[in-house]
Parts: sequence; structure tokens; C-alpha cells
Amino acid sequence: MGHQLRPLAIVSASSMPTSLISRNVAVIGAGASGLVAARELRREGHKVVVFERENQIGGTWVYDPRVEPDPLSLDPNRLIIHSSLYSSLRTNLPREVMGFRDYPFIAKTDKTRDPRRYPGHREVLFYLQDFAREFEIEDMVRFETEVVYVGLVEGSKKWKVRSKKKRGDNDVEVASDFRFFDEIYDSVVVCSGHFTEPRVAEIPGISSWPGKQMHSHNYRVPEPFQDQVVILIGSAASAVDISREIAHFAKEVHVASRSVADETYQEQPGYDNMRLHSAIECVRDDGSVVFQNGRVVLADIILHCTGYKYHFPFLETNGIVTVDDNRVGPLYKHVFPPVLAPWISFVGLPWKAVPFRMFELQSKWIAGVLSGRVALPSQEEMMEDTEAFYLSLEASNIPKRYTHNMADSHFEYSNWLAAQCGCEGFEEWREQMYHVSWNSMLLRPDTYRDEWEEDLLISKANEDFAKYTA
Ligand code: FAD
Repeated sequence: MGHQLRPLAIVSASSMPTSLISRNVAVIGAGASGLVAARELRREGHKVVVFERENQIGGTWVYDPRVEPDPLSLDPNRLIIHSSLYSSLRTNLPREVMGFRDYPFIAKTDKTRDPRRYPGHREVLFYLQDFAREFEIEDMVRFETEVVYVGLVEGSKKWKVRSKKKRGDNDVEVASDFRFFDEIYDSVVVCSGHFTEPRVAEIPGISSWPGKQMHSHNYRVPEPFQDQVVILIGSAASAVDISREIAHFAKEVHVASRSVADETYQEQPGYDNMRLHSAIECVRDDGSVVFQNGRVVLADIILHCTGYKYHFPFLETNGIVTVDDNRVGPLYKHVFPPVLAPWISFVGLPWKAVPFRMFELQSKWIAGVLSGRVALPSQEEMMEDTEAFYLSLEASNIPKRYTHNMADSHFEYSNWLAAQCGCEGFEEWREQMYHVSWNSMLLRPDTYRDEWEEDLLISKANEDFAKYTA
């Protein structure tokens, strides 16, 4: 992907400010990105408050067995469940690749822990809890406090942050179940995640199709699919896992993918009841589903594993930052809106990446820019760079919704961030291990988590980890 990776001016030693400027910073969210943002901001000398609407840290990694009442999550007034994890989920990256640089995600011997290289979701939550404890991050977090509004204070570059917290039993005023707080911050770092608001496939004829529909956001366990004929739309990591899990219960599973040729119709090795098709052409009111390959299947349920929308219901920037066809923009390097930089920033928007390490580098960059240690280009230069990036996507026929898909540019991007901060980029072993594991997932989706041959890379990783764990 054509990122314009022009070098940034780093404040040179001679022009380095004698002391770093400390800002009051609000971080929204205490998932992996908010936790590491809080750590990096505090390390740089900023005063940090982390707002978290749930009662614990971890975000996505806090498994919730509940599902939303609306299985497609279309109702804006529904009860929102944050996490999209399913019960059986194991990581799709090996733990060596996943962890933060100086706090490796190593296997623990404690019996309550999951020592596998691709552990279950609970182990990731434990790791994030260990991380938060080690760096005393919870001291900065206000739990059960949801940010409902973030907007510029008129005539200044500061931000008003309005949060709401459920009243305690001892509160006497009962006009509302919530108490609201307005505060002013120098800067806001948005770490609210983007795997909660489902994207649903548009299918001709769907309004009169009589079957059931749901989104993978509301998928937890396979048993309800017993003896059903299931159409599963999608081909990303969750679709690969869920289709296989459901196939052990369902009568038939038909996977519809728009990334295969129109004539595709393939049996899936190892499964006698699962077929891969090209995309759905239309559905009919007799319950049938017509694929682009010409096949017609009478189905009970359509399961959309079609990804998520960026959604910032609290953010009011007078139209300066918008979400257009899943492009959050304009953003310089997926982080700073040029007109509002560096006073508002986003951590964690890019996908198809190595998330935790990338969050760490984005956070270091933001922290360094806010303290004055790292310089940003001018507003005009950042805008020019961002527009050039968007034009390069257009020229390659890449739709807007793939703006934050890092695909092959992930390592280049992360190393660029590292260079801005004056810190080391991705370790060679991590990059190689990422590629090896990704290819294994594509080639051996049923076994890649338990069978591997990268022992040499693992020992290089462990050598590196010894620097931090000794
Ligand atoms: P989140 O974890 O979503 O955290 C955001 C936090 O912000 C939440 O705690 C939320 O409550 C809070 N919040 C949101 N809005 C507000 C508000 N208005 N006020 C206050 N608080 C708010 N990554 C990997 O590295 N390996 C994997 O194997 C992997 N598997 C995945 C599988 C699935 C099904 C999904 C959905 C994602 C997976 N990921 C994986 C990606 C994963 O999402 C990231 O690793 C990471 O956890 C995202 O962290 P985050 O902090 O950006 O967002």
C-alpha cells in the first residue's frame, strides 16, 4: 500500500527543549491501546486520566457471554456489548509476536494460565492485567465512566470532555441515574477500539428473505447452529475459525467470499459439509440464496462475518474529522488530524497489523510530540502528505474502506513511527515470525496454532525477551 513515508523532523539535540512540556491528557478506553498510551504518556511526563466505561481493563479481551438483543446490531438504541470474542477464540498471532516490546507475552507456569503459543482469549486478558499492574496503570483509570462528548472549547485548542458515571447508592439526587462531569484537557487520545459496531453485507432481496440473520459480533458458541443450513459471509480470521467450528454442528456450511473468482465452488478439505462459494448474488423470498457461481442453496441462517465500522459517537469536531465509508480522516499517518494536531489523536485504527506493538509505537509518537521532544511537520505538509496517500489509494483502485488496512506496509509504517520517536523498530525475528504464522494460518487453518516449525525464530525471540525478564 502506497504510504508516503517522508522523514519527519525530529527535534535535534541542539534544539531539544531543556525540559519536556507536561500536558493534561485524557485517554478514552482502557483496552490494549489505552493502557499502553497511558504508560507512554506518563513516561513522557504528562498527567493522564484514562476513561473506561466498563468496570475492568482489557476491552476486546474481556469475554462477555451475553449477546445483543438485536442479532445484527442495527438498532442504535440497543444494549451495546463491547467485545466480539467467541468462547473458543484462540489468538491468531503467536504470543511472541503479540506482546509489547519491553513486556513480552511469555508463558507462565501458574496452573491458571494457558501456556500455549496461541493461547485462549482469557490468557490475553491476564497478560494485559499483568501489564497494567506492572506499570501501575490502573491508578490512572476511572472505571464505569463513559465519555459522552469530546469537543473543542470555543476560541482555544483545548478540549471539553464530558463523562457520565452511574450514581452510587448513597447519591440522593435522583433526577437521572447518571452523574455528568465536564472537564478541560490539553489533549485527547482516542483508544476506544473498533470491533463493536458491525458492518453488514448488502444483499439484494434480503428484506423479504424469511431466514434468520446475525453478525459475528453476536456469535459465542456453535450449538445453536445444530442441523441448520448456514451461509457464512466473509473470509477474514474470524470467518475462518467460526465456519470450522459451526461445521461440526450444522447440516451444511456455505462460505460466501468476495475475494475469490465468480465461478468458485470448492469443497473444504477435511469437511464433507462445507463449501466455499463466490459472493451472494441475491436471496429470494422462498428462503433460497443464489451465489455468483450459479449455485442455489435453501438456507436457514445468514451469518455476517463482515467486519466492523469505526464509530466515535462522542466526538464533535465540527466536521474536521469524519468517518466516510470507514475512512477516519483526514488523518496524518492514521493518527493526527492535521488541523487539530497534536491536540487530538487516535491509537489503533490500522488493521491487518501487529496490534500491540503498533499501539506502543503510535503512543510513543503522540507522547513525544505532546511534550515537544518530537516535531511534527506543518499543518500544510501533513495535509499534503495525507491527500497524497488518499490519491495513491484511489490510483490503485483501493476503496476508501481499506484506508486503514495496512496489509504489506505494516512493518514499514511501524518502523517509520519508531524512527520518529528515536526508538528501535520491529525486531527482525518478529517480522519474520509474523509472516510465517500468517502463511501457516492461510495454508493450514485447522492446525497452525498447534503445529509449527519456527523453533529457530522462537529461540531468537526468547533471547531477546531475556533482556526484559532477567
Ligand atoms: P478495545 O480492546 O476494543 O478497547 C477499547 C476500550 O475503550 C474498551 O475497554 C471500551 O470499553 C472503551 N471505550 C469505548 N468507548 C468508550 C467511551 N466512550 N468512554 C469510555 N470508554 C470507552 N489482536 C491480536 O493481536 N491478536 C489476536 O489474536 C486478535 N484476535 C482478535 C479477534 C477478534 C474477534 C477481534 C474482534 C479482535 C482481535 N484482535 C487481535 C484485535 C484486538 O482488537 C486488538 O488486539 C486490541 O485488543 C484492540 O485494543 P483497543 O484498545 O484498540 O480496543
